Amino acid sequence: MSKNNKNRFDDINCIFCGRSPKDNKNLPFIASGFEGFGICGDCLEMAHEQFSDKKSTPNSQKNKDLKKLIDGLTVPNPAEMKKELDKFVIGQEHAKKVLAVAVHNHYKRLQATLGSRKVENYDDIDLDKSNVLMLGPTGSGKTLLAKTLAKYLDVPFCICDATTLTEAGYVGEDVENIILRLVQAADYNIEKAQIGIIYVDEIDKIARKTANVSITRDVSGEGVQQALLKILEGTVANVPPKGGRKHPEQEFLHVDTNNILFICGGAFVGLDKIIQRRCNKQQLGFGNDEDAKKKAKEDNDILKNPLAYCEPEDLMQFGLIPEFAGRLPMITNLNQLGKADLIKILTEPQNALIKQYKKLLAMEGIELEFTDAALDALAEKAYKKGTGARGLRALLENLMLDVMYTAPSQKNCRKCIITDDVVNKKTKVIIEK
Ligand code: ADP
Repeated sequence: MSKNNKNRFDDINCIFCGRSPKDNKNLPFIASGFEGFGICGDCLEMAHEQFSDKKSTPNSQKNKDLKKLIDGLTVPNPAEMKKELDKFVIGQEHAKKVLAVAVHNHYKRLQATLGSRKVENYDDIDLDKSNVLMLGPTGSGKTLLAKTLAKYLDVPFCICDATTLTEAGYVGEDVENIILRLVQAADYNIEKAQIGIIYVDEIDKIARKTANVSITRDVSGEGVQQALLKILEGTVANVPPKGGRKHPEQEFLHVDTNNILFICGGAFVGLDKIIQRRCNKQQLGFGNDEDAKKKAKEDNDILKNPLAYCEPEDLMQFGLIPEFAGRLPMITNLNQLGKADLIKILTEPQNALIKQYKKLLAMEGIELEFTDAALDALAEKAYKKGTGARGLRALLENLMLDVMYTAPSQKNCRKCIITDDVVNKKTKVIIEK
């Protein structure tokens, strides 16, 4: 810069915001032909945005908002996250650990790339996004885990169902609608939505029906995986603000999905057999006794909990396209809940169902007691239904209907006791006065 120029910049202020390049050496600036007048890069950008799209906020402002948001996030360490999950979710230790680490790393990545958390000597190392895949039977707590974490972190969260999605042009929903849900959960604050968490349930239902590439159109399978893949990888999605199918004349919300964490879940019925078959094949031929023993033990473990041994190739065999399986690098599995877990779910979590009923009746001055045998009978019934903890709510609601109807109107009712006979509909609830 010539001496002359330097002097010109020293005496100049932006005619819009009043700032001077003299005070801020990094401020991009254009001097006008008239002495003392100029315009800074930020105002120029704002003017450009104003004319190109009246509704949008300047990018520099958006970036600042996003940075502020990310810097304002408190990212608890994985052990703290697991402790929080323990309050609400029974069992599923491995899934809790995997999720806690994935979510912790995800938000650290955001702080390092978009926020102001810089790491000396590692500036040129990019951190990849790690979306998570949870395998496990229905009612085992997949959604509950994701929901609890999002609430704890206070970031926007939404749940969507992969079965409603179809490839563009077919009856069903465009994949962009899942982003819209997140935007809605963030009260249409796009910046906030861009660092949210999306839980995609029933991801196994968009698997290709066969592992071979089909020549016929696969409306609800591969096409949806391709569309979802783009969003998972990170793109600027054009989201119809009112949902539904996209059409050309529509105005879109532009949402960057690069920093949205995707947690996918599904029951993956049949995947256990695929894993077992692969493991058996790999273990053909073993030499000495020691190897044979080791194999027998591994066989036993695989038989007991095959989903814990899932590899991306099993997912491909199941019908996920390789790129899609590759975008879900963190895999964890949830166990089928046993009777003991179901009893704990009834009584232990912070918002356990029985605690909720106790509170409702306590508001009427009535104590509610479930005998151990009653809890056992309830868990037994739910277990037989095979829908995990989902069955518990329906059973309990059914059981408590009469109590909730009659107890508050009973005079001098002091206590209600639910026994196993009450659960098995052999007697009526015991009311003490
Ligand atoms: P999934 O997504 O695996 O089908 P959900 O997380 O939706 O199952 O579980 C349904 C309900 O069952 C939850 O809202 C919760 O009340 C209860 N539940 C399921 N699993 C657990 C668990 N491991 N601990 C506590 N409650 C659970």
